[in-house]
Amino acid sequence: MGKILDFAEDLWVGRKNTYSNHPFGVPRGLELINEYNSQRTWFYRGFSNSIIRETSEGLVIVDPGAIFDVHTKFKAVREVTSLQVNTVIYTHGHTDHVGIKPYIDECEKNNWSKPQVIGHEAVSHRFDRYKSTASWNGFINARQFGGINSRGTDPTYSIDFFHPNVSYNKELTIQIGGVEVQLKHSRGETDDHTWVYFPDSKILCTGDLFIWAIPNAGNPQKVQRYAHEWALALNKMKENNPEILCPGHGVPIIGQERIYEALDNTALLLESLHDQTISLMNKGASLDSIIHTVKLPEDLLKKPYLQPVYDEPEFIVRNIWRLFGGWYDGTPSHLKPAPEIDQAKEIVNLAGGAKKLAERALELMKEGKLRLACHLAEWAWLDAPNDEHISEIASKVFITRAKLEKSTMAVGIYIATARKMGGNPDKEMLGRTVMQSQELRNKKE
Ligand SMILES: [Zn+2]
Repeated sequence: MGKILDFAEDLWVGRKNTYSNHPFGVPRGLELINEYNSQRTWFYRGFSNSIIRETSEGLVIVDPGAIFDVHTKFKAVREVTSLQVNTVIYTHGHTDHVGIKPYIDECEKNNWSKPQVIGHEAVSHRFDRYKSTASWNGFINARQFGGINSRGTDPTYSIDFFHPNVSYNKELTIQIGGVEVQLKHSRGETDDHTWVYFPDSKILCTGDLFIWAIPNAGNPQKVQRYAHEWALALNKMKENNPEILCPGHGVPIIGQERIYEALDNTALLLESLHDQTISLMNKGASLDSIIHTVKLPEDLLKKPYLQPVYDEPEFIVRNIWRLFGGWYDGTPSHLKPAPEIDQAKEIVNLAGGAKKLAERALELMKEGKLRLACHLAEWAWLDAPNDEHISEIASKVFITRAKLEKSTMAVGIYIATARKMGGNPDKEMLGRTVMQSQELRNKKE
């Protein structure tokens, strides 16, 4: 086995874990994962993954690359095969899955016909949305992956995307050089998701419906996700008895039993969150009470591929609420709230000053009551954003929170907040990206 599959084995058996080895991290590179009828299939592990299958009519590629790294992947592919690209499948329209430029340039250079590029019919709508919200996406991705507040327009969101030239609605089966490729749509992480199955080699390409972490079904900064439909898709995948699972991020899983277990447990996790949330909603509970009540079964939380290193269960509960409820969370003062700055000033006044409130935040932090500490720190800083002492305490509370949190999404937002408050999280958070800082922190421990 090569380094990717060796590493995959280490993760599965627990010699390594996703806290110190983020699913989006290293090792990266191209590896042969299957040969069927002398036709090879490679897996490229990158920030996101690519699957490349040879056929007698050229290559079928599932997710050619990210907008920002497809050139590296293209080069690696061209070192192992010179076959023309016949078909590209986008599992969904996220920018880390739809980089295709070098393949199109190659066709133009060689006078080859362009590949058929297949995606669900909602992919094009997503591309249009990205263009109109490129700056917003710049903000949220800078926070999520960089822990910083603003980087302006994200260039990967404002490019001319290569839209699918073949789209479908529910399912599509194609034959390329005698190789059958089955595409099925399900809403899950996105509204435009496709999962792909190669029946001959029994290879399943899940897209981001499996990413070696708790499903990204809660993401606080992004559009709606669909936890229950996601679970249904995972159960449908099981029916094929796949032998190789190629995820959208992270490493392959080899072997029918392991794959069944991974798909089954991920579906169970999503169903559990869905069922508990809906049951409490049906009792008229508020969002506040639901997010503090729903709990996941312990055995699921122990699985190496279900760790909350990227997203987390509490956020998924919120997204289930958002899908089935409205934005009103059941707390009456939240319906038409006073501006936060007015709330902060009133609380600071009652507490006897911002300094008192900030120092109480520090005490709560030391007692391990980080949720409460963050409220107090935020109010104090809102009241006195130019006071150095207050800023220092407030940012310290948020850096401490970031250090204790496990998910990229929470860590990114808390680091960005500490920065906004004038703190210097770089000294303590180490890594260049939020994922690296998560990994380095856990390796140090
Ligand atoms: Zn992805």
